[in-house]
Amino acid sequence: MVTDLVYHDMFVKHEMSAGHPEGPDRLKSAMNYAEKAGLFEDERLNLFTPEPASLDTVYAIHGKRYLEGIKEKSEKGGGFYSLDTAVNSYTFEAALLAAGGGIGAVDRVVAGTTENAFVLCRPPGHHAEFERAFGFCFINNIAVAASHLIRNHGLSRVMIIDYDAHHGNGTQNSFYSSDQVLYVGLHQDGRTLFPGSGFPDEIGTGEGKGYTLNLAMYPGAGDKSYDLAFKKVIEPLAESFKPEFILVSVGFDSHYKDPLTSLGLTTTGFAMMNSRLKQIASKETSGKLTCFLEGGYNLDVMGMCAQNLLEELSGVPVSEFNEHHTESETCTQYTEALIEQVTKTSPLL
Ligand SMILES: [Zn+2]
Repeated sequence: MVTDLVYHDMFVKHEMSAGHPEGPDRLKSAMNYAEKAGLFEDERLNLFTPEPASLDTVYAIHGKRYLEGIKEKSEKGGGFYSLDTAVNSYTFEAALLAAGGGIGAVDRVVAGTTENAFVLCRPPGHHAEFERAFGFCFINNIAVAASHLIRNHGLSRVMIIDYDAHHGNGTQNSFYSSDQVLYVGLHQDGRTLFPGSGFPDEIGTGEGKGYTLNLAMYPGAGDKSYDLAFKKVIEPLAESFKPEFILVSVGFDSHYKDPLTSLGLTTTGFAMMNSRLKQIASKETSGKLTCFLEGGYNLDVMGMCAQNLLEELSGVPVSEFNEHHTESETCTQYTEALIEQVTKTSPLL
């Protein structure tokens, strides 16, 4: 079986402003690391060039007028949504290709053509709301893929894990009243980081009550806290929910060297999470797993983590980058208390 690396040259043509942290160099670094590691010569990895998403598929997650607005702005050569979120003339095309990359990737996994995939895309998606471009995001790629799996492949249980440092507000809100998508967010506490949401009492509503879980980590939380979160929350949740497909929002901004955030993961911690995700997929979904790039703003960390993720997904031995960073006792204790709180309120645990 092979792993798809989903990539399109248009992903690096979208740019919000000179020197913006969410810039094309992020993907260039990831591709350079993968190339240097010899992954493009490995038959276990396949470079997959996506087609744009059909608008009908995207309308399940975003309003028509909102999407037309992004198209118009792009056609006019660019414009701002907020101080940090802007389009250039390539943005609409890149965003449709990013969403289409996710759709193509899950289609190929469902068909058994590939085992799993990493959608190495820009713009990212997890902050994009129904009618709002937000936090460097325009189309919510992972939400579009989840809804496509439910509407067009007839699935009824999709699990989304989001380990980006920022809360995936757009993804959570897309499925807040649904029991068909289980959203689990591991992110830095919203009192200390954008977008200021994703607290443990956000658990879903109506039929979706209990199908949203948020572990809002104390600043500094790292490998030990995330290990506990997998052992005590994510693995038991997967066992109880029995997902048919696992989608992951990967954000390498939870790394201790990230310039925009304050979490404490090392490349070893990311590798641990990726390996556990693959194990969960192997146990619950016959391996069906697709990862979507969200954030990550230290360029070397972007490269190392993307390389490690591709190695894990494709079964190539995972390279060790020998980083050392230990979280404080306070962080671990806070995480233990948080896990206890979430466990008490979740009907799935
Ligand atoms: Zn982020």
